Amino acid sequence: MTERPIFDKDLLDRCISCGFCLPACPTYAMTGKETSSPRGRITLMRALETGRLDDDDPTLAEESSFCLGCRACETVCPAGVQYGSLLEQWRDHQWQGRRRPWIARVLMAVVSRPALLRLQRLVRRHASGPARAAAPEAPVSLMLGCVERGLYPGVSRAVRRLRPEVSVPAGQGCCGALHAHNGDSEGGARLARELGGRLPGTIVTTAGGCAAHLAHHVGRDRVKELSEYLTEAGYEPAGQVTVDGRRARAALQDSCHLRNGLGVTRPPRELIAAVADYVELPGAGDCCGAAGTYAMVRPADSRAVLDPKLDAIEAADLDYLVTVNPGCLRQLQQGLRRRRSRVKVVHLAEFLALAGG
Ligand code: SF4
Ligand code: SF4
Repeated sequence: MTERPIFDKDLLDRCISCGFCLPACPTYAMTGKETSSPRGRITLMRALETGRLDDDDPTLAEESSFCLGCRACETVCPAGVQYGSLLEQWRDHQWQGRRRPWIARVLMAVVSRPALLRLQRLVRRHASGPARAAAPEAPVSLMLGCVERGLYPGVSRAVRRLRPEVSVPAGQGCCGALHAHNGDSEGGARLARELGGRLPGTIVTTAGGCAAHLAHHVGRDRVKELSEYLTEAGYEPAGQVTVDGRRARAALQDSCHLRNGLGVTRPPRELIAAVADYVELPGAGDCCGAAGTYAMVRPADSRAVLDPKLDAIEAADLDYLVTVNPGCLRQLQQGLRRRRSRVKVVHLAEFLALAGG
């Protein structure tokens, strides 16, 4: 049979089929089916690569979409399988043209439109605020994520309150994570490199997904997720976050790509603990089901992933749930609103600003 170069052979060959990844995988937990596990999906990829299954095979279509892309499987793999890269290569092949979910096609088109750039300029004006102290010697640029700049402009404003030395350069585009996760990894890489060229110095991001993608393409040393940056810059909060005169109870929901892709887990927890009573939520590192476009492409599965997390949040008697990614923020706000929960979901930047940053 003819081998078609869909995957990087070295990456595909690395899996030793040990199955250590199965208990870490949320879609395997939902179904108990081997084909919905990381190992099963790698078997499917190998079948696609060798032509044993063809492009229109329904199991290939289903599993390339059912996977959350959370990369929890990577953290437990003894063979160092880079599952996230394999998934990108799979979708590059599988999700061409009309096979790409239409919501992903629309979003990818939207983030390339001039209207969004106009919106970005508007947000930038809000984010910049009044005149600030002189810029430091080494430039630090705040990246305005596509989703965040539109839906949560208060996040970038809060960053400027916390760290006035951070500049917000004009003319930012998309970092390309959306493209890379939806079958256009070449476009995603190009957008990341272009953005890296437009933002001088250290790039600070408030979105875990963007941080991992950008770091992969412009270099880990240039990209700092907000909690990393604040920690390294010696940020000290001015006060505490209180509710009814007592310290607030607050938990973190990890960003999958920040945790599983970049290994950043402690800085956001330590920052929350500096201003509030930190509560470690059971399953804080598990995917919330937002997963980029997943919540829109597969809403029922997304909710099935989210529900146990909402149960854990409600059982923890929290005042705040803190997130480090706009997709998680939206997913958890919507989920808790549906349950009429009193827990407030906020981004880390806004939470720290509540402490008088
Ligand atoms: S992906 Fe890693 S953990 Fe999973 S079966 Fe392959 S080698 Fe084992
Ligand atoms: S990325 Fe997440 S959902 Fe996909 S196979 Fe790995 S653990 Fe499972």
